[in-house]
Amino acid sequence: MAVGKIGKQAVVIGAGMAGLAAAGAIADHFENVLVLERDRLTNQAMPRSGAPQSRQLHVLVQGGQRALTDLFPHFEQDLLNAGAVPLRMPGELRFEIPRLGSFPSRDFGWLLYGASRPLVELITRRQAARLANLSIRSQCRVLEITASLDGTMVTGVRFESAAGRQEILAADLVVDASGRGAPTLGLLRSSGQPVPDEIVIGVDLHYTTTTFVMPEDAPTDWKAIATHPQAPERSRGGYMVPNEGNRWVLTLTGRLGERPPSEPDGFMDYARGLETQTIYNAIKHAERQGGFERYANPVSVWRRFDRLNSFPEGLLPIGDSICRFNPIYGQGMSVAAQEARLLKQLLDGRATKSDPLAGLAAAFFSESLALVEAPWNMAAVPDMIYPETRGERPADFEDRLKYDGALMRVAMNDASVHRLLAEVQQLLKPPSVLQDPDVDRLVQRELFQMAAE
Ligand SMILES: Cc1cc2nc3c(=O)[nH]c(=O)nc-3n(C[C@H](O)[C@H](O)[C@H](O)COP(=O)(O)OP(=O)(O)OC[C@H]3O[C@@H](n4cnc5c(N)ncnc54)[C@H](O)[C@@H]3O)c2cc1C
Repeated sequence: MAVGKIGKQAVVIGAGMAGLAAAGAIADHFENVLVLERDRLTNQAMPRSGAPQSRQLHVLVQGGQRALTDLFPHFEQDLLNAGAVPLRMPGELRFEIPRLGSFPSRDFGWLLYGASRPLVELITRRQAARLANLSIRSQCRVLEITASLDGTMVTGVRFESAAGRQEILAADLVVDASGRGAPTLGLLRSSGQPVPDEIVIGVDLHYTTTTFVMPEDAPTDWKAIATHPQAPERSRGGYMVPNEGNRWVLTLTGRLGERPPSEPDGFMDYARGLETQTIYNAIKHAERQGGFERYANPVSVWRRFDRLNSFPEGLLPIGDSICRFNPIYGQGMSVAAQEARLLKQLLDGRATKSDPLAGLAAAFFSESLALVEAPWNMAAVPDMIYPETRGERPADFEDRLKYDGALMRVAMNDASVHRLLAEVQQLLKPPSVLQDPDVDRLVQRELFQMAAE
């Protein structure tokens, strides 16, 4: 093995956002990193069947953008050069909240990039592919993770190549970025080891997405827009973001039986039925491009690997394999990138140990907990507003709901609280920063006022 390396070979299952970020994160520490992807990958920003969500609107929030730029220093510039649309944040994102109106247009000095999911992935793939010791093989489906007889020590993977041949590849580390975590769960089950508990929130969310040519008379006071529903009475939401190619991508959402239509008249009617007319007015004369893409997201799932007492050595699940968030909050790609950055930090810190991979999974699960828990909890409260949402409500649910409502009202009027709230929502800071005594005083005053109204 080359001097200074932790291992000879690492294998990453899946070339989605988690797999690419993880491959970049570990590349310094292995002689070779091989990413195996079941789909055929091209050099174009195209949706693909292995990541069916790639036809839907995706937003990369600040926390993920920064993590990807930390892993791949040219990421942001290359995304911009490829046509992503810069948006001043949060000022150019019109954020419409029922009963409160839209947030004042403030500028915190951050840029968000409007880009399709296939473009974000292609740019990330190009960054990864530039690393000399990293290769990506497409049309290779991993059939199983191989391990010692008792399953506690991973030895590599067995996969089927594009030619239909089965191959076995030895690896010091296997990263499962397959999205559903099936290879990891398969190994645990087949070797009689405990599988993680799952926390499930039944959100029953439906998306319909289409694109429009951005008209010449597009509004100038916003570039992207989120129109939130008046919950729990209604669940219709609208989210529109400019993407590369001078187009708007519009996703209409509904929950719990309400499904945005996928034919032109029904779609436009649904848009007209949002809480405000802002989106409808913007698109009513715009030229639609392409068809309607539907996506159903019945549940959010968090696999509690962090609660297992033992886990096979040489194996690490990451990204959606650990937690599939409710997509409406735009967290999954960013959490995956932040997990990958954490993995790099852990390997950097362990590189000089005699057995750097021993206990890696336990350290990763414990340290990545905060990266998952914060966005999960942030999503759980608004999801639970709907009484039909399945899952365990937090004990202090009603109080949290009221508190969050008051916090939102404070943020409307106070730029520094707005900034703090946006930093938490954009996964730049932990929610604990909102427990600042000055913020709490303002929120308590607002709660008092709300009770009097
Ligand atoms: C409708 C929708 C909208 C979303 N919107 C946003 C958003 O706005 N912002 C955001 O940050 N996130 C969003 N997400 C979440 C985001 O897409 C994922 O969280 C993120 O891409 C990380 O996924 P992943 O790489 O872990 O898994 P995936 O994207 O599922 O990738 C897994 C990859 O592994 C491959 N694979 C699977 N099994 C095998 C195998 N056996 N062998 C080889 N390859 C295999 C698959 O083909 C695929 O390429 C959204 C999700 C959905 C469903």
